Amino acid sequence: MKSFDEDAFKAVHAQGGQIVSIRVNPSKTGQRTTNNEQLERVPWSSNGYYLPERPSFTSDPVFHAGAYYVQEASSMFLEEALKQSIDLSQPIKVLDLCAAPGGKSTLIQSLISKDSLLVSNEVIKTRVRILSENITKWGAANVIVTNNDPKDFQRLENYFDVIVVDAPCSGSGIFRKDPGAISEWSENNVQLCAQRQQRILADVMPALKEGGVLIYSTCSYSRQEDEEIADWLVEQFAVGSLQLAIGESWGIIETVSAKYNSFGYRFYPDKVKGEGFFIAAFKKGQVAESIHEIKKHPSAPLRISAPLRISAPLRISAPPSTKKNTEKVTAKEVAIIGSFLSNAGDFVFIKQQDDILAIPANIADDLTLLQSALYIKKAGIKIGSIIRDELIPAHELAGSNFISPSVTRFDVEKETALQYLRREEIKIDTEYKGWALLTYQQLTLGWIKLLENRINNYYPAAWRILNK
Ligand code: SAM
Repeated sequence: MKSFDEDAFKAVHAQGGQIVSIRVNPSKTGQRTTNNEQLERVPWSSNGYYLPERPSFTSDPVFHAGAYYVQEASSMFLEEALKQSIDLSQPIKVLDLCAAPGGKSTLIQSLISKDSLLVSNEVIKTRVRILSENITKWGAANVIVTNNDPKDFQRLENYFDVIVVDAPCSGSGIFRKDPGAISEWSENNVQLCAQRQQRILADVMPALKEGGVLIYSTCSYSRQEDEEIADWLVEQFAVGSLQLAIGESWGIIETVSAKYNSFGYRFYPDKVKGEGFFIAAFKKGQVAESIHEIKKHPSAPLRISAPLRISAPLRISAPPSTKKNTEKVTAKEVAIIGSFLSNAGDFVFIKQQDDILAIPANIADDLTLLQSALYIKKAGIKIGSIIRDELIPAHELAGSNFISPSVTRFDVEKETALQYLRREEIKIDTEYKGWALLTYQQLTLGWIKLLENRINNYYPAAWRILNK
C-alpha cells in the first residue's frame, strides 16, 4: 500500500465527513435495547463500534450510565499495542500519564486484570474533573486518579510495568474532525510540541521498570513529533522498538524511523475509518526485538531487575494528607457498608474526612505509597458517610461495578431517566421508603431517596443535563 497518498488525503479532508465511534464498557452491559451486533465493528478493537450517524449522546441515559465511551476509532488501536506488548492477564501497574478526558484510561481499564492498577494522571487541574467523572462512570475500583506534573513521577523509580504517553501535540490528525485546529497549527508549534514531548518522556522514563513497556502516541502527522521522537527515545534511553502485527485490511501504515528503524503506526483518514493518529511501542532496557518473539512466549515474565525505590520526598506545596486516610473504619461500619457491596471481602476501607472509601485490597499498599508522592484526586470507590448507623451513599457507589444486586432499585422509562439526569423531581408508583437506585435498561443512573410525600434526587449537581 502506498504509505502516503496526497490526493486521497486531501480529498477525504475536503469531504469533511464525521466518523462516530463508541467503545462499549464490558462491565456495564445492563439490558440494552441497542443491538451492537448490527453495528459495524472497529476492526482493531474488541468493544469498538461505528455508529451510522451522530446521535444526541446527552439525551441517552445509557451514555450517562457509563455503558459506553465516545472515542475516536484510531485511538482504540491502543488495545492492540497493549495486548501485543505485555501479558494483560497478569497483575500489572499501568500509568496513563496524559489522561484527560479519559478515553485511553477507560480503554486500559477494560483490558487490565482486576488485580492490576491503573494510575490515570492529568497535569492540568481544570481537566482532572472530567477525567474523574469519566473514570467514576466507568465504575471500576482499580483506578487512582492523580493531578501531577510528569516530573513528579520520578519519585516512583522502576514502579510501572506500562506507561502510556498520549502526548499533547500539534493536532494535525484531527483537522478533518475539527477544522478550527488548522488555524492554530504552525511549524513553530510543531517544534514546541516536540520539545515538550521530549521533556514529558524524559521526566517519566525513570518510573518505568526495566523490561517495562512504553506506549507513545500523538494525533499529529509531523515526523518531528512521531518518528523523530522514537529515534530520540532510542538514543536517550535504552529502549527497544516493538513491531506490532496489523491486519492486512486495516489500512494502518507501518513506518520506520530514519536513524534507528523504530517501528511506528500511522493512521491516515483516507486509509482507515478514523482520524489521524500515530502510535509506537517500546520496551525499556532491551534492544529492538520483534513483537512476534514476545507473542511466542506470552507468559514469559518481563525482566524486572531493579527493585522499587522511592527517593527523597516530593517537594509539593500541599501534599495529600495520609493522616486522615489512616483513620479506622469500625467493624460496625464495615457491616453497614457490606450490605451495599457485592464483594466487600475484596476491599479494605479507609476514612477520608467523613467519607469511607473502598480500596481493592491488592492495591492498598500502592495507594499508601502513591499518597506519599502524588496528589491523589480519586482512589477506589467512594462509599459514602455513616451517620447515626445509616449509610448516606455516595454517587460513586451507585455507578460502581460493585454495588450489591440486593440494593433496592427502580427501573424507569427514558423520560423519567432524563428527568432524573436533569435533577428534576421524579415520580414512581411505590410504597417503598428509603434509599434506592434508579436504573434505566438495568443500568444504574444514581441514588434516590423515597420519602413520605416525595422522592429526593441525588444525581450529582455538577453532572446534571442542562438542556431540555
Ligand atoms: N489520553 C487522553 C484521552 O485519550 O482521552 C487525551 C490526552 S490529550 C492528547 C493530551 C493531554 O496531555 C491533555 O489532557 C493535556 O492536558 C495534557 N498535557 C498538556 N501539557 C502537558 C504536559 N506538559 N505534561 C503532561 N501532560 C500534558
